[in-house]
Amino acid sequence: MENSFALRKVEVSLSPQERFEEYLQSRGKRMTHQRRVILETVFAQHEHFDADGLWEMVQQAGHQVSRPTVYRTLNELEDCGLLRRMQLGNRRVYEHDYGYPDHDHLYCERCHKLFEFQCEELERIREAVAREYQFRANGHRFIITGVCAQCSQGRRRPRRLELV
Ligand SMILES: [Zn+2]
Ligand SMILES: [Zn+2]
Repeated sequence: MENSFALRKVEVSLSPQERFEEYLQSRGKRMTHQRRVILETVFAQHEHFDADGLWEMVQQAGHQVSRPTVYRTLNELEDCGLLRRMQLGNRRVYEHDYGYPDHDHLYCERCHKLFEFQCEELERIREAVAREYQFRANGHRFIITGVCAQCSQGRRRPRRLELV
């Protein structure tokens, strides 16, 4: 299995920045320089990341942004539907949820890599279950945990904290 699926982008009417600006305005907040830096870093590429990893990326790009600001902005980006949060053990991992198709994940408990996949059968099951409970489904979380092919082949890899 490939490390990551090249999922096709979904057409969206607003750019992430426009959407975030609308969200901030509706709450009487402003697009500050720090918020913009964080947004641009997040949307520079599609990757799974956590708050500390994002903070490091922002620092490495030469910007001065405090950790609390990164945490606060991540909450805002999640709240306005730009990011989706996943809980992996005691870690919170984020990824794009805007302009990116629905997909699910396999999580390797040894190397801590996340693999993406799409499965129409799962979508059908979700809709069928929701119908049965007269529930309007907006989303779901489905994470298969286990050991990836590389790790189960016994190839020893250094334990990595960052996600790919
Ligand atoms: Zn693995
Ligand atoms: Zn993903």
